[in-house]
Amino acid sequence: MNKNDFPFFKDNELIYLDNAATSQKPQIVLDAMNEYYTSYCSNTHRGSHELGNKATEAYEDARKSLAKFLGAQTNEIIFTRGTTEAINLLASSYVKGNFETVILSELEHHSNILPWQLNDLHIEVIEVDKDLNIDLEAYEVLVKEHPHSFVSITHISNAFGIINPIKELIKIAHKYECKVLIDGAQALAHFPIDVKDLDVDFYAFSAHKAYGPTGIGGLFAKYELLENMNPYQGGGSMIDEVSFEYSTFLDPPFRFEAGTQAIAEAIGFKVALEYIKQIKGLQKHDKSLLDYAKASLRKLDGLILYTQAKNVSGSISFNIEGIHHDDIGILLSKQNIMLRTGHHCAMPIMKKLGIKGTIRMSFAIYNTKEEIDRCIKALSRAIRMLR
Ligand code: PLP
Repeated sequence: MNKNDFPFFKDNELIYLDNAATSQKPQIVLDAMNEYYTSYCSNTHRGSHELGNKATEAYEDARKSLAKFLGAQTNEIIFTRGTTEAINLLASSYVKGNFETVILSELEHHSNILPWQLNDLHIEVIEVDKDLNIDLEAYEVLVKEHPHSFVSITHISNAFGIINPIKELIKIAHKYECKVLIDGAQALAHFPIDVKDLDVDFYAFSAHKAYGPTGIGGLFAKYELLENMNPYQGGGSMIDEVSFEYSTFLDPPFRFEAGTQAIAEAIGFKVALEYIKQIKGLQKHDKSLLDYAKASLRKLDGLILYTQAKNVSGSISFNIEGIHHDDIGILLSKQNIMLRTGHHCAMPIMKKLGIKGTIRMSFAIYNTKEEIDRCIKALSRAIRMLR
């Protein structure tokens, strides 16, 4: 399905199952970036020459598309280098100084732990149950004990694919005057997101996990919150007036975009979103691959799965009894199968499970059941060799 759209697969026999780390890019995304570099490469928001205007228009068009994709207003979208930078921006420009406590779940990626630690914020953690689901009652107790806190939770766990019940989590947080960030890094490529319907305060994302280029992503923020936030970095393009005595800044979102931006990447991101929008049966495809992979894996001797949760998307994580996950990863790579082994930047949940890491298959629109069959065959071979 759709494999021909991706030049990466043209001249190789690779099976790519590491999409939660980054996805491959369709030709149309590469073409849009190439067109910028070859026919109107120019800086944005500066001067008045024709090329600069064209580049500015394309960059701002990308912001418009992104806003539409998320159900936001255009001025509620800040471009960043990705989810990591979006969370760091928020930690330093909004959370530090306004909140004492940040509430996280045990499933968080390091990107949603370290920015709070680096800004000296107190962290409280919501535990997950044996299937790695957040217990909503326990969550409410924790939020009630810490009203006026900042809640920051992943939409989909990158390590185990668990989809968190974010609408309920947001509603409960608001009941106790908390503000909420959802880390959407793993969600953008998998299902539609409507920030207004979710009533989320902030939503962070990366393009490269959703068929777009690396080096670009962003932060959605409700405009009334953005208005009261200070710049994250200082530099060109974000100012109203500068003198040696004082400087004033542009309105959001421009106040948060200092220096030359990732222009080609923003243009590529827009095309990636258009690509996602035209895919039919995205979630059906996702679910059928996950179900098929799970059923196929169950035939392997010594399989260890970590969750029976039904609300899962994109990834499946497992181990094989008595074999180190990295050894499996190396032997699969030798058989042209690329999947991820290790802690997946989610050490706290690995520690809770008493493991160092897992083997993770993660899927995209171009993956097929036939590829899963080949992966299982390669896995069986690797297991035989390692036992
Ligand atoms: N959050 C989650 C859930 C992720 O999976 C990732 C990347 O794997 C990140 C945050 C960080 O994203 P990026 O490296 O694109 O900034």
